[in-house]
Amino acid sequence: MNTSQSQVLPEPAKDLFGRPLRSLRVSVTDRCNLRCQYCMPEEEYVWLPRETLLTFKEIVFLTELFSEQGVDRVRITGGEPLLRKDLASLIGMLQKNTRIKDIAMTTNGVLLAEHAQNLFDAGLHRITVSLDTLKPERFKALTRRDTLAQVFEGIESVGRVGFSGLKLDTVAMKGYNDDELIPLIEYGKRVNGEVRFIEYMDVGGANDWSADKVLSRKEILTMLAQYYGPIEPVAEISSAPAQRFRLPDGATVGIIPSTTMPFCSTCDRSRLTADGMWLLCLYAKSGLDLRKPIRDRRSREDLVSMIQSVWETRRDRGAEERKELETSTGRGRFIDIDRLRQDPHLEMHARGG
Ligand code: SAM
Ligand code: SF4
Ligand code: SF4
Repeated sequence: MNTSQSQVLPEPAKDLFGRPLRSLRVSVTDRCNLRCQYCMPEEEYVWLPRETLLTFKEIVFLTELFSEQGVDRVRITGGEPLLRKDLASLIGMLQKNTRIKDIAMTTNGVLLAEHAQNLFDAGLHRITVSLDTLKPERFKALTRRDTLAQVFEGIESVGRVGFSGLKLDTVAMKGYNDDELIPLIEYGKRVNGEVRFIEYMDVGGANDWSADKVLSRKEILTMLAQYYGPIEPVAEISSAPAQRFRLPDGATVGIIPSTTMPFCSTCDRSRLTADGMWLLCLYAKSGLDLRKPIRDRRSREDLVSMIQSVWETRRDRGAEERKELETSTGRGRFIDIDRLRQDPHLEMHARGG
């Protein structure tokens, strides 16, 4: 593999709607040490065979090809990325690519305290921790594990080892944590983290999803305004999924309205599964296998042209299409359970959220 690179910043590849290829989410494992009901409700799954997982060298090589097509932001995710052995060395390898301006990671935080320093030293820029509740019993009910204390330790380690820009992502669900929006924001202030509320999505194996459990952006804003007073949108030009708002005391909070106000029209994200399947949308039902061609030693030019031609024909707008169903056939189950069992790539934990 040739890892040399020129310093000329590439013009990003554009898809059929003119959306550039900018952001790559790299899943490093499909395994997880939690069992969040909205993501991985079962205990056992059809896991990706270990020998199919991309090596760090393969991930770095593919990331390099993507960066030549315009990718300048990489997010490490999973499953739970911290279950991947020696993750810091992957970060160290990725940060050598000068085209990548931002390397972030999304984690459930359980193992974060023990890895935060190494990740910081290796060059990771930012961390997002998923945190749905501050209540241990609720955490246990949602995740089937009793590890909220470790998550808190992980969150507290982020600032201590030197990271800034901590984000805390909360899937907001009616009847589950809709009474914790304010406590979560207040906790975020204490740990210097911006809380972002994600609308519950009907992705992958989220087989418990139903429209009446979605706490919408509108409802979230009403609840926040009732408590804090007037809330101002933060004016910024960004392709980031979160809309940001400023509270009267200056603190900011984000809302990711994927279900009620999808933002596909500006989506510059794609996903690489841990076994090298490239998915153009969170809702994609199939993808491009990049592992086989690299293990078959196809030329760099072939790989680049595959990536380019696939992105140039991209027309994915999964969340918008799901929403449109509300006014036609109805928003039934996204994927049947039998099909999920046959193809683990369809699961949210395989594609990285
Ligand atoms: N395990 C890591 C974690 O939980 O942060 C990274 C992978 S997880 C799949 C990435 C994100 O997807 C998490 O913030 C999680 O809350 C979110 N997620 C999973 N299922 C979801 C769903 N059905 N609706 C909305 N967000 C979801
Ligand atoms: Fe929960 Fe993340 Fe694990 Fe899914 S991958 S079960 S969201 S911790
Ligand atoms: Fe992008 Fe697909 Fe999500 Fe729409 S649903 S924002 S196209 S990943």
